This record gives sequence, C-alpha cells and structure tokens, in this order.
Amino acid sequence: MAERVVVLGAGYAGLAAAKRAARRLRGTDARVTLVNVSDRFVERVRLHQLAAGQVLADLPLRGLLDGTGVELVVAGVTGLDLGARVVRLDTVPYEVGYDVLVYALGSGADLDAVPGAAEHAFTLAVAGEAVRLRSRLTEARTVAVVGGGLTGIEAAAEFKEAHPQLEVRLICAGPVGDGLSATARRHLHRAFRRLGVTVHEHTPVAEVGPDGLFLEDGREAPADTVVWAAGFRVAGLAAASGLAVDGQDRMLVDATLRSLSHPGVFGIGDAANAQAAGGRSRMSCQTGLPMGLQAGDAVAGLVTGRDLRPARIRHLWQNISLGRRDGVTQFTRADDSPLGAVLTGWASARHKEAVIRGTVWRLRHPGPCGPGA
Ligand SMILES: Cc1cc2nc3c(=O)[nH]c(=O)nc-3n(C[C@H](O)[C@H](O)[C@H](O)COP(=O)(O)OP(=O)(O)OC[C@H]3O[C@@H](n4cnc5c(N)ncnc54)[C@H](O)[C@@H]3O)c2cc1C
Repeated sequence: MAERVVVLGAGYAGLAAAKRAARRLRGTDARVTLVNVSDRFVERVRLHQLAAGQVLADLPLRGLLDGTGVELVVAGVTGLDLGARVVRLDTVPYEVGYDVLVYALGSGADLDAVPGAAEHAFTLAVAGEAVRLRSRLTEARTVAVVGGGLTGIEAAAEFKEAHPQLEVRLICAGPVGDGLSATARRHLHRAFRRLGVTVHEHTPVAEVGPDGLFLEDGREAPADTVVWAAGFRVAGLAAASGLAVDGQDRMLVDATLRSLSHPGVFGIGDAANAQAAGGRSRMSCQTGLPMGLQAGDAVAGLVTGRDLRPARIRHLWQNISLGRRDGVTQFTRADDSPLGAVLTGWASARHKEAVIRGTVWRLRHPGPCGPGA
C-alpha cells in the first residue's frame, strides 16, 4: 500500500516539510497531504505590519503547492489517535489516516500568563487578531505593548511610526531586548526616543483590566488598548494525544526530529523542542523553515528505507525591525548567543526585508538547496 505522509500546519515549518517531502518522494507511490486551518499562507513575521495598517501579500496555499503533488486539506485539527494513526478534523473529511506524521501546528499567544489578558488584551499571534487590532489602532489613544522581546519591540515601533498621534508605551518585566548585546540595546533605546515610544523596563504586569494594566508594584498604567506580546505558547494537542512534551507543551524530538515517544511522528517549528538537534530551539521562522526542510528529507528517508541524518538547527542573527526605515540585526553564534557584530538603521531594515522576502522565495522553491540537501 502507498505510504501516507500527513503534515499538520502550513506555516514556515510545515509548508517547507510537505514540499520537500513531496519532491524527495517523486517517482514513488507515497502521498503527501498538508492539513491547515486556512487556505492562505500567513507571513506571521509581518503581523505587526498588518496590525499597523500595511497590506500584506496574499499567498494562497494552492498557488504555493502548485505542481508539487501535495494534497491540501483545509480543516482544523482537533485530535490525534496515535494508536490508530488517525488525525481528527473539524470538517470534511473529518479524519485522515497516516503512516508518517509531521506535527507543525506552531504557537499562539500566552494569554494565561496573567489574569485578564485573555479577556482584555489584543495579540499578534494569528492573522485574525492582527486584523482586529488594526481597526482598534485607528481609534485608540493610548496603547500599552507588554513584552520586551522581539515581538513587543517590533510592535511598539511599528505602531508609533504608523500612528504618530498614538501614545505608545512598551512595558517589560526585565530589560528591553534582553539577550542582545549592549550596542544593540543602545540602538533600541535611541530608536524609541526618536519615535517617541515610552519604555518601562523592570515593570512586571500583574493583571490586565478593561482600562489598562495593574502592575506588580501596585501602580496602574491606564491604556485604552493593551497588546500582549510577552511570549508564545504551544497548544496542548500534542500533550493531550500522549506525545512526549516539555514543560511548555512543545513536542520533544530527537536529533532526527522524531518524537521521543512516537518515532513515526516528526515535530518541527515552534511546536517542537529540538534541543537534541543542537541549538536553543528559539521559536522563530529562522529555525522553523530549515527544520521543515530537514524533516521533509527525513520523512522521505523513512519512507524509502534510508538512514536518517541528524538535523542541524543553527541561529545566525536576531533581526528586529524598528518601523520601516530602522532596525537592529544582532548577529549570533549558532546557539543564539549574541556576537559583538550589530547592524543598525536603514541597512538593518533592508537586510530584514531581504531575509523575509528570501524566506517566501525559499518556501516557493524548497529544494534541492538548503539544509538537509
Ligand atoms: C509579530 C511577529 C513577528 C515575528 N518576527 C519574527 C522574526 O523577525 N524572525 C523570526 O525568525 N521569527 C519571527 N516570529 C516568529 C515566527 O513567526 C514563528 O516562529 C514561526 O511562524 C513559526 O513557524 P511554524 O511553522 O512553526 O508555525 P506557524 O507559522 O505559526 O504555522 C503554524 C500553522 O499551523 C496552522 N494551525 C495551527 N493550529 C491548527 C489546527 N489546530 N489545525 C489546523 N491548522 C492549524 C496555523 O494556521 C499555521 O498555518 C514572529 C512572530 C510574530 C507573531
């Protein structure tokens, strides 16, 4: 019987995996099916731009899959039966069977972090939320962006540049841009001063209310709009199905990206903890896409009876946009620790734009070059 390869999630990791596997399995009778809740590829790394009012490219998945032989099923995954090798869906065909499964369902906002965030805060984790925030920002007066990591920094800068009349506050529990070099952090502060974003470091948030934030030190920070950008969380589907996961519900995978508990299942992208494959496995498309390509190769290897090669997860930089004309590119070691080298200003903004465009190009043409090839 033909082998059935099923990939769950058509983000950076899953789309790359499905296309690479199909390419490697051309000429065999294996079938590759990609399941995704929408029929569009979402450039998640641009969702702060979407919320700020910019128009993003429309990327239908059928167009990106054209000529690959990958079958697209547009449906939400509701459960996995690992014993019966069946994926349960919320719409027709309601279930799909598999012989090899690739789990790439990504991540969402961590809205359980403090009380009130789920009720009152906006997020940037999915396209629908970014669109909801976009209309809110046209009438907002004061926006509190919570989170001093990459997403919070990019959001605060983008919103202030697009809506200069807005009062934008960036609130973080630790220093802004923690983990970046001193040079990179200095540039962040310069950019926020230039734009007029107020930065509140070492200011942990205790609760989100309808009119703003309650801080841990007892003060209040009024805001008519709160954007929660303090970390991502993985859905509990893998854990609920019995797959081995870490404390954040990310699937634990070995050096070849196969589940530690169920070797017929691969885990990639934000949804997987790939420390065994080297690197810190930070949630990023920078590592998600190569993981997808490497999983595509490994899946094909498994189906055709070849030995699986260990994956290599490596970081190169942290690329942070500060609006459309400024940015910080922090070059890193493979383990994501910062080097002294930093690119700033227009050069960094151009570099980031080129990387994002290059990422979509690589998704259109996922082989034969690139990791795993
Ligand atoms: C505003 C913002 C800016 C960012 N900037 C950067 C950056 O500059 N550089 C960087 O490297 N990373 C950045 N990231 C992080 C990056 O976007 C993620 O790490 C990346 O998207 C992970 O890829 P993935 O394929 O694992 O998951 P995703 O891209 O999230 O894809 C998951 C896919 O699964 C689908 N899905 C989810 N649940 C279900 C379900 N139950 N059923 C069916 N389908 C489902 C989703 O619709 C989606 O298509 C940013 C993220 C955000 C939000």
